[in-house]
Amino acid sequence: MNIGLFGGTFDPLHRGHAALARAAMEQCKLHRIYFVPANLPPHKQRQPLTPFLHRFAMVVLATAQEKSFVPSLLEAPEENVVPIRKDVRAKPNYTIDTVRRLKRSFKAADKLFLLIGMDAFADIAKWHQAEALFRECEFIVAGRPGYSLADVANALPESLRPRPEVTRPFHKQPATGELVLPGATIHLLGDLHQPASATAIREAAAAGKPLARWVDPAVAEYIKKMGLYKSSSVVTR
Ligand code: ATP
Repeated sequence: MNIGLFGGTFDPLHRGHAALARAAMEQCKLHRIYFVPANLPPHKQRQPLTPFLHRFAMVVLATAQEKSFVPSLLEAPEENVVPIRKDVRAKPNYTIDTVRRLKRSFKAADKLFLLIGMDAFADIAKWHQAEALFRECEFIVAGRPGYSLADVANALPESLRPRPEVTRPFHKQPATGELVLPGATIHLLGDLHQPASATAIREAAAAGKPLARWVDPAVAEYIKKMGLYKSSSVVTR
């Protein structure tokens, strides 16, 4: 089976995420996609995050109608899975660990694809054990307006990055198709024309604006019911 792993803060999961997952499913013939909300994303540790349980609940609601979209607890806080000592600080969730944990349940013929947006992929070289991540799975990258194939190639960790004379012509090429290099395979979805952003949604919710155009109706209802994103309900970790 072709299996996708889609990680994020999902605070909340919105139509941009769903569009990425659907396009990835179609282009790479995925049989299943695990949506993995991070408890402590390494790159967002300084910003206030909604508690994991609410973010997970919204992932469950937003994926409920799609048989192949599976909410995952792979990066759930340990205290929700096994009891831990009070004095032990939660560790950030590194994707390489999640990937390896998921692959332990794989059959020999299963293949893993990591789904990611171009804005996150732009920082991929700084991720923990980035080269190893490219060895463990193929990447599916959703473009954003203005990004070229050169931006994708130049974002790679140095050891995997093609030489500048190779990537020069890429500047004029949109980020679509496939990039197959020694040590990295990247499938490019192009721009999905879904400008939703979780930051804008949180701001709209705080201002009491309707959210239906950005999120699944069940998620919009949950946000309203639980009073999420009103400044008093946001928990700083
Ligand atoms: P925030 O605004 O809080 O930073 P976000 O909307 O970017 O959040 P994340 O949960 O951080 O959402 O994103 C998870 C993944 O989804 C990332 O790889 C990101 O690049 C991608 N992504 C987010 N929004 C979109 C979108 N509108 N279209 C395509 N990909 C997206």
